[in-house]
Amino acid sequence: MTMERTPSVLRDKFGRVATDLRVSLTDRCNLRCRYCMPAEGLDWLPGAEILSDDELFALIRIAVERLGVREVRFTGGEPLLRQRLVDLLARIKKLTPTPQMSLTTNGIHLGRHANALADSGLDRVNVSLDTLDRDRFVAITRRDRLDDVLSGLAAAVQAGLTPVKVNAVLLRGINESDAVPLLRYCLANGYQLRFIEQMPLDAQRQWSRSEMISADETLRLLGSTFHLSRAPEPRGSAPAEEFLVDGGPGRVGIVGSVTHPFCRACDRTRLTADGQVRSCLFSQQETDLRSILRRGGSEDEIVHAWRAAMLGKLAGHAMDSDGFVQPVRPMSAIGG
Ligand code: SAM
Ligand code: SF4
Repeated sequence: MTMERTPSVLRDKFGRVATDLRVSLTDRCNLRCRYCMPAEGLDWLPGAEILSDDELFALIRIAVERLGVREVRFTGGEPLLRQRLVDLLARIKKLTPTPQMSLTTNGIHLGRHANALADSGLDRVNVSLDTLDRDRFVAITRRDRLDDVLSGLAAAVQAGLTPVKVNAVLLRGINESDAVPLLRYCLANGYQLRFIEQMPLDAQRQWSRSEMISADETLRLLGSTFHLSRAPEPRGSAPAEEFLVDGGPGRVGIVGSVTHPFCRACDRTRLTADGQVRSCLFSQQETDLRSILRRGGSEDEIVHAWRAAMLGKLAGHAMDSDGFVQPVRPMSAIGG
């Protein structure tokens, strides 16, 4: 006789239900974006600590089949540095219910892998691009790879990984002048651009509130050239506030992570590359699912541990307050 398994969800004590799982596939990266990590890189996680493909699949299967996760987003570090990614995606796509799958990438290897990623069942990509100027690209990422990113974007559209979204971070004194050209470029190519406020998640801990370009300032920068009006539909759990550009149909999104936080509608849970659940980017606590897996713990034990981790989710991140404490892990090791 088979036992009926009770379906459960990842509900926190404020009633929010997490259905969107962010999975970091690696903490390594082939760029060194200055708002993320230092020029010399970081001490990467040792290989033995990183979840194997089977371990990752086991946890994602539990999240989808037993915990109500409906969308899985892969990130990092740079997720396209993960070996055999297409095989992992193909296994996940066969789960029931079938999750939506998307990937946040710096785009460098997209040109090479976009078709295989689409064939494996990946639905969409977000590509990070902060400037169209080669020198400023090098100044921000410390690598001369702008052309690879632009051809990666085009390959993503060709492969049907749409809508292709572009994430841009504006840095004072470096790329404010890129806001308008980036929007023109994205509108012309059918990419959905979102500007993201710089957050205190850099490994160097150099973020400063006064240096950050806020969502309001970004709107003013764009407003010098475009007429922006708030999109009519409700925002739901989407982090970006959407604006119609010159009456539409073109749009731009602004993610005011610091100044207009979207914590009240947050539907995310996170898994790091070394198997730790985090209820928030800014959590000070992690729940170690890798240890449960490696000592042969039961699936029910993992379900309970994951649910307990999410029960402890705080109401908000308080990034814009004096008492804010930056998490120990930098963004690249959490998964942005
Ligand atoms: N390497 C991939 C990429 O760059 O798209 C995925 C990981 S990256 C950590 C995910 C996103 O976080 C990128 O869009 C990046 O621009 C953004 N990001 C990194 N550090 C940030 C920071 N301090 N503040 C705001 N966004 C940041
Ligand atoms: Fe790498 Fe993404 Fe961080 Fe840039 S933002 S260094 S591409 S992980």
